[in-house]
Amino acid sequence: MLREILQILKDVGFDELIVERLQEVKKEKLRRLEEINQEIHRCVKCELHKGRNKAVLGEGNPFSNIMFIGEAPGEEEDLQGRPFVGKAGQLLTQAIERAGSRREEVYIANINKCRPPENRQPTIQEQEACLPFLERQIEIVNPKVLCLLGATAYRGILKTQPKITQERGKVLDFRGRTVFITYHPAYVLRNPTEKETFFRDIKMAIELAI
Ligand code: SF4
Repeated sequence: MLREILQILKDVGFDELIVERLQEVKKEKLRRLEEINQEIHRCVKCELHKGRNKAVLGEGNPFSNIMFIGEAPGEEEDLQGRPFVGKAGQLLTQAIERAGSRREEVYIANINKCRPPENRQPTIQEQEACLPFLERQIEIVNPKVLCLLGATAYRGILKTQPKITQERGKVLDFRGRTVFITYHPAYVLRNPTEKETFFRDIKMAIELAI
């Protein structure tokens, strides 16, 4: 997508120096994200490192206006080293596409970078140990909107334990960014009657980021 933007800028006669500067910024963002990636693969700050195959940093457009934040890698994510690639991830991808966007255009991350055993919820201590990595990712990508997927993402960012069925759909202001709250797609898989609501929520989150 950046390549397309750069081409359009060149075509309309945009200053070559500005185009080059954008390329430099992209390179720097990717370098800093890779630095975090190296750190999480060595990280032993919490017990979750013991069971991981691959730590999962996150992925997507480093210039994205929206970052989706989930809980932690599951089995597939742990094996592939990529976020949201299992069934729940496929539902998220479907919702993003239904909203007229593409997975490569957004950024996707989790509160915890290593898989909890039996996919249990990470403890608050484990969440807090891992959060500095996510905070750095947010600073680097600098999205306008944080879309919190489920209760763990909500607690990790907003520091209060929510009733997600009451909080979903809310739009909050948080440290100069817009926070939008919805279900985790794994919850939607268990509660298929919420699928259309989830699709609508993801569309709204993406529209907030435009
Ligand atoms: S979950 Fe986060 S804090 Fe815990 S070991 Fe993995 S990278 Fe480190």
